[in-house]
Amino acid sequence: MGSPDGYDLYEKVYRNKNYPKVRDNVYALLRANSEMGNPVRIRLAFRSNLTMKQTLELPDYQRMKGFPHEVLFNTDYDTWTGEIRQQDLLEGMHLRPLSKFDKEPCFWLYDGPIIFADGRVGLCGCRDYNAASELVVGHIMEESLINIWQSERVRKLREKFRQGNLPDICSKCTSYANLYLYRCRRGSERRELINLVYPDSTHQSERRPVERGERGQKHGENGYGSGVSHETHR
Ligand code: SF4
Repeated sequence: MGSPDGYDLYEKVYRNKNYPKVRDNVYALLRANSEMGNPVRIRLAFRSNLTMKQTLELPDYQRMKGFPHEVLFNTDYDTWTGEIRQQDLLEGMHLRPLSKFDKEPCFWLYDGPIIFADGRVGLCGCRDYNAASELVVGHIMEESLINIWQSERVRKLREKFRQGNLPDICSKCTSYANLYLYRCRRGSERRELINLVYPDSTHQSERRPVERGERGQKHGENGYGSGVSHETHR
């Protein structure tokens, strides 16, 4: 959303002049969904240095808020393993602090191999976007995917995580998430699916049921909350 007096905020955050098009498309989407009986769950995510209250008072939002949707606010921002710095953000925006690590590998290390455009195979499809880290474990033209996924290299990387010996990229990451995902009911379905494609790819210790009161550490959740809060507008 733009600032109340124009589109300058959108342009500063997204570094392009497409605000009118984005706004009109969002409005058209909300209206079309509403006319069809709201078959789609829509979330509007705001990235702004305004307060949540100021954001919800933006004139352009007023004509949207009558349509069913949820609202997300980004209140702090990922560093992308150190590539985004505080000076890259607008005043009032904050970077997330580094992740707090459990004695568990990040869930990405179990979520299936990531194949990059040039054939390299990695473990993190989230932050290792240019395949430049030690999480790259093979090449699809040199070894089968299943062999790479079940290799000693992958096992050792997970083991190092358990010992607190993190890959360099992970030690600078603000997006670590523990293995809770695979212990909750929905996540266990995902785990079974991954195991179907890549047998024995999850460790026994990751198969234990969720204990009462146990909580996952999600991306960006690092003791300061998830960095996102939301409310639902109906
Ligand atoms: S800690 Fe960060 S960089 Fe490491 S695997 Fe997880 S998301 Fe990727």
